[in-house]
Amino acid sequence: MHREHQRRNRGAELVWAWLVCAGWLSLPALAWHPHPDITRAAVAALDADAPILKLLGPEVPNLRESSLMPDWRRSLRRDKTAWFYSDDFLLLPGLPTHVGHMCPEVRTTYEPFFRRALQALRTESAFNACRWTGSLVHFVEDTGAPPHAAIVGGDLHGKTENFANPDKLHLTGYRPRLLGRTDDEAVAGLRQRLEGLIEFSKPRFERAKPLAVSGDRAQADPILIESAAECARVVADVLLTLGQLAAKIPADQNATLTGTVVSQAAPGLEQLPAKLMLLETKFSTLADAAGRFECRHLPPGTYTLAVLRPGSAVATAAVTLASGRATTKTIQLARDAVAGNLVRNPAFSLHWLAPDRAEGWYPASTRTKPAKKTWEGDLLPLAAGKQYRLQVAWQDKAAGKVGVRLPARDPKKPATELTPIAPGETQLDFAATAETPYAQVVIFGDGPPEKICRHLALAPAGD
Ligand SMILES: [Zn+2]
Repeated sequence: MHREHQRRNRGAELVWAWLVCAGWLSLPALAWHPHPDITRAAVAALDADAPILKLLGPEVPNLRESSLMPDWRRSLRRDKTAWFYSDDFLLLPGLPTHVGHMCPEVRTTYEPFFRRALQALRTESAFNACRWTGSLVHFVEDTGAPPHAAIVGGDLHGKTENFANPDKLHLTGYRPRLLGRTDDEAVAGLRQRLEGLIEFSKPRFERAKPLAVSGDRAQADPILIESAAECARVVADVLLTLGQLAAKIPADQNATLTGTVVSQAAPGLEQLPAKLMLLETKFSTLADAAGRFECRHLPPGTYTLAVLRPGSAVATAAVTLASGRATTKTIQLARDAVAGNLVRNPAFSLHWLAPDRAEGWYPASTRTKPAKKTWEGDLLPLAAGKQYRLQVAWQDKAAGKVGVRLPARDPKKPATELTPIAPGETQLDFAATAETPYAQVVIFGDGPPEKICRHLALAPAGD
């Protein structure tokens, strides 16, 4: 399950996020959202001079909210300082699809997200590092959530999470522990620590279960809080370890790439920064809203830098990074063939996460029609009252259709699916209303999107 779109009310958003996380949506809105509180308690347990606090600097307070990241998958986040697609902090080479947050699947996240958070702390801005760290922290916290550890879904899952209130949680006297002195040691140490966390939380689930069944919130709360506290202790260990290891840079990673992306934004996405990727590597970052970017501690070498931003064609440039030197690049993005195109990677030319994954396009569970395969694009913000046009340039002999989904502002209401267009038809017009704040392009057909379309645009009509 994942959220299809944003809500304006942050309180409701947090509740929704937790319920989605719990896999249990029928609960009335209880204002318990343990991730930020557990994260807050973990940060408070660190010494004031802990390296991670220095590395994240002004972003430290944002770690609380960033630890909800995996519950925001497939969404457009509109932070005060920058917008971003949550999946840019949730998908990575080697793990290009979302995985479950329950045991045992959640175990597949430990190593890739630990290494990615470490990479972000070593190479990227504090903004990026905070959000990658938040994703890791979420998976750690979910591991120790009693019903996640005990692998119990449904009604009991929601109750054994929502019958606790960790907003006063404090790890009195806890000294965070280092999980390892090298990256590899820390990955092994993290795995071991998390197996211990699962064993800690399982019996607490069993003890809280009858209380949850009988609705005895007051008796269940202290038991469930024990799990929340152990989660926070593990997160404190993770944060201590990440900070200490981030300061140990491999000797061969001593090149810097900085610069600016110059581009014309798509209307409504002016605050969404460019994403930069070094092709065939694990390195990527988001620029800031002004287009500035920096990647430190990269291995010297010659790379292909790819830059992605809605409204522009994908740009690629060869860059050579010299040992011990900073290389500065200004990347001018060409406007997309269709003015105002909101779609990222509109010609499907950029593949970074995996060879079979055009960046910005996601294989979807076929909730809608019996299509063999469905691909969904990013959520595109619409302005109420405006006319929009989907324009498709088809591949020769394309076997597929392209449609537009308009998620409802009210998450309880179903999305509107516009009748898809087929080869021979080239455009689909629609109007945005206050009830349809987003559009999502959906490609139905056998094979990856680039087998069906050469180019795809969704833009305001008649601008
Ligand atoms: Zn979760």
